[in-house]
Amino acid sequence: MNNSSRRDLPSPFELVRRHNLGLKKSLGQNFLIDDTHLARIADAADLTPTDTVLEIGPGLGALTRHLAERAGRVVAVELDERLIPILQEQFAHQPHVAFVHADILEVDPAGLLQRRSAKTQRHNTQYAIRNTQYKVVANLPYYITSAVVRHILESPQPPTLAVLLVQREVAQRMVAQPGEMSLLAVSVQFYARPRTVRRVPAGAFLPRPKVDSSVVRLDVRPRPAIADLPPAGFFRIVRAGFGQRRKQLRNSLSAGLRCSKEQADGWLNAAGIDPRRRAETLSLPEWGALARIVNVVCR
Ligand code: SAM
Repeated sequence: MNNSSRRDLPSPFELVRRHNLGLKKSLGQNFLIDDTHLARIADAADLTPTDTVLEIGPGLGALTRHLAERAGRVVAVELDERLIPILQEQFAHQPHVAFVHADILEVDPAGLLQRRSAKTQRHNTQYAIRNTQYKVVANLPYYITSAVVRHILESPQPPTLAVLLVQREVAQRMVAQPGEMSLLAVSVQFYARPRTVRRVPAGAFLPRPKVDSSVVRLDVRPRPAIADLPPAGFFRIVRAGFGQRRKQLRNSLSAGLRCSKEQADGWLNAAGIDPRRRAETLSLPEWGALARIVNVVCR
């Protein structure tokens, strides 16, 4: 689709008015209405006609339009059933765009790309687009940001890249360095290399949220940063460490792993980590060293 036909499509304002839609705060429905920001989000995913995009929460299709211009195939998953017919009507003449009514947290992300409507089936046969790789692009509902990020990164077939619009403070936590690490930072950086792309002011949304947002790009690693440990074993230790965040690691580990403080001291010393340090100061390699030691002892 070229830009002039995109401009001919109704704006989110017009769609809300035409369909008499009450926006659902409970579903995080803050629609991005600034076309420049929408275009920059789509640009950040470096889309080409060979790409398949999974969009989470298309809302009224404002971002979907930009994705449809750039990618070979777009599958968008939306929880609000009222929006599906509105979206389908808007994109009726774009066979490479399909909508699925589902809760993203209840479905396998890559599995969504296998569900093919008659429309996309015809298209895929015609253009032989059979990508197994995909990218995620989303203006995420704020109430489930961390859960969605974990869901897509931990899925059996994660995307190669995710470009996400999230609350600014959440973006800062994802890209944090030792000294300000959190469970979210370790979880994201274990699977991906995150970077902040741009800031989006609250005024770019309808309705206007209380806080600013940022676009983050996660380049998913081919293998996790700590590849020699099973993720479950690694995160058992990390979760214990962050369980009592303001406490020294010797205390949080002994509480979280139900062991004595002396045992925790022994593990930390063996990993070259001062037991008095706090969880937010550890780097990923340090978490790896600690998890390797604890997992050997507590098999
Ligand atoms: N993409 C649109 C935009 O950029 O303006 C809308 C983004 S709005 C922040 C989030 C969208 O996610 C809403 O349309 C909401 O209904 C949808 N949503 C909320 N929870 C969801 C879930 N669990 N699964 C899929 N979509 C969800």
